[in-house]
Amino acid sequence: MSTEPTTASTTERSLVLVKPDGVRRGLTGTILARIEAKGYRIVALQQCEATEAELAAHYAEHEGKPFYPPLLEFMASGPLVAVVIEGERCIEGFRSLAGTTDPTTAAPGTIRGDLGRDWGLKVQQNLVHGSDSPESAAHEIGIWFPSL
Ligand code: GDP
Ligand code: MG
Repeated sequence: MSTEPTTASTTERSLVLVKPDGVRRGLTGTILARIEAKGYRIVALQQCEATEAELAAHYAEHEGKPFYPPLLEFMASGPLVAVVIEGERCIEGFRSLAGTTDPTTAAPGTIRGDLGRDWGLKVQQNLVHGSDSPESAAHEIGIWFPSL
């Protein structure tokens, strides 16, 4: 059986966060422009100060890891922008556009590779979050946009 994408519907939604470092550095517009330039549709968007409950739910998979406490502290350090994007295979597509987790080595051409670097802090300040599976996308959209 072919593994090529087919004409069957593969439209999906993903949850993107412009993290507090991205907002602080005035990169929200640049990041949104890259998402739109890639061809994904912005379905919902809001800037907010994340609550501890929202962050704990969002990063539940990382609870107990050494970077979890500084990660939650960083994510609460200022406003973030939560975005729902839509398009064929946009979960995988946005992860590719974002680049790998470590911004120092993320490939040039990606958001993290072009706009991010190591700032010598306890957590990777890497500008964006993107859902990594349909299940996590559904879970994360429910956290940030319960009415969707
Ligand atoms: P992502 O899916 O690429 O965002 O990466 P993960 O889901 O593995 O980690 C969530 C977030 O925690 C990352 O985006 C980083 O901000 C931070 N993080 C992950 N791994 C590390 C690590 O090994 N050290 C530090 N300091 N931060 C990390
Ligand atoms: Mg992740």
